[in-house]
Amino acid sequence: MLSRPGRASVTAPTAASVEAAVRLDGVTKRFGPSVALDQAWLKIGRGEFMTLLGPSGCGKTTLLNLVAGFLAPNEGEIFIDGSLVTDVPAFARQTGIVFQNYALFPHMTVASNVAYGLKARGVGKDEIGKRVADVLAMMKLTGYEARKPRELSGGQQQRVALARALVIEPKVLLLDEPFSALDKNLRGAMQVEVKEIQRRLGVTTIFVTHDQSEALSLSDRIAVMSAGRICQIDTPEALYRRPADRFVASFIGEGSLLSATLDRMEDDSATVSVGRRAVTVPSAPLAGQSPGARVDLFVRPEHLQVTTTGDAAFEGEVAASIYQGDHVDLYVDTPQAANGRLMMRLAARDAAGISGAGSKIAIAITGEDAVAFPPAGA
Ligand code: ATP
Repeated sequence: MLSRPGRASVTAPTAASVEAAVRLDGVTKRFGPSVALDQAWLKIGRGEFMTLLGPSGCGKTTLLNLVAGFLAPNEGEIFIDGSLVTDVPAFARQTGIVFQNYALFPHMTVASNVAYGLKARGVGKDEIGKRVADVLAMMKLTGYEARKPRELSGGQQQRVALARALVIEPKVLLLDEPFSALDKNLRGAMQVEVKEIQRRLGVTTIFVTHDQSEALSLSDRIAVMSAGRICQIDTPEALYRRPADRFVASFIGEGSLLSATLDRMEDDSATVSVGRRAVTVPSAPLAGQSPGARVDLFVRPEHLQVTTTGDAAFEGEVAASIYQGDHVDLYVDTPQAANGRLMMRLAARDAAGISGAGSKIAIAITGEDAVAFPPAGA
């Protein structure tokens, strides 16, 4: 049993935690002097597909391993289904985990790999036979029972790993970059399948990835992490439209930073001016800034338009025009961009009239979703 000095091992539900399938209360994990996870607070609802997204080394796998019980926190508490599990060993937590490298037992058949967790829990032989057959059918692996992992393709091994995790009917399914070893086409197909199974079974899922498009397409909510901290927890759409800080904005989707000036702060909104135009943005990211301050306006590529009417905010010169089928990505040099260049995304028909590199264009800011941040380092 995992233990920390002076701690009681309590598993009784507490009233405050009953509503969440998984809850982390101020969980910190240190390895020697380095902090891998810093004061993580997280609540995951029953049946929710929650993704931990962030760059390499930000603490995603550490958080997953803390929920699985493979690591013990230095501070904070972890609850599963309302029970305090901080000191409960991994095998007693009822979590199913799928690793990046599948970690199948190479000497065992598919059926034995899948049956392993049930045997370890003392489930009867007939019941094991039925549950293994059911989960293999669900994973489209009927007929492969007697094969060894080395006799399977990567995608099939992945299905066995998922079957092994699901057969124990886990309270929480933990997926650690499960698609990264698959080729692009297979990855897409497996993503759709996993999401479909997850929804059908209603199993609470924590999914680790550093691939933002994977996170955006699969998740109910995403926790964006950086350097051991959870920066923002939100739906994919909210993260894209209202990133809480500069890191989240740059990590989710694409965008450009424009030099702007803060004109006015109100309760929920603020007004900033960019070139000749004023833009309304949420005030929260600008807390503590005063009118007149220089700020950076973050705009998505689709919120910049080429204009020939009087609504232009500023001008620029096309550096490159990249045809992408249904749209055109336009790279534009302008002193208004914080680093001298911005990116715009035009529908192919809107880009038809724009000649290539060197042409001068006037740019308008459209859409409601611009966000402004204090300058870097402020
Ligand atoms: P990746 O996407 O590369 O897997 P991650 O976001 O999952 O990265 P973690 O594996 O959680 O990151 O690591 C977070 C930090 O903790 C890193 O700086 C890592 O080097 C460190 N770390 C992780 N496990 C250990 C360990 N067992 N001993 C010492 N340091 C560790």
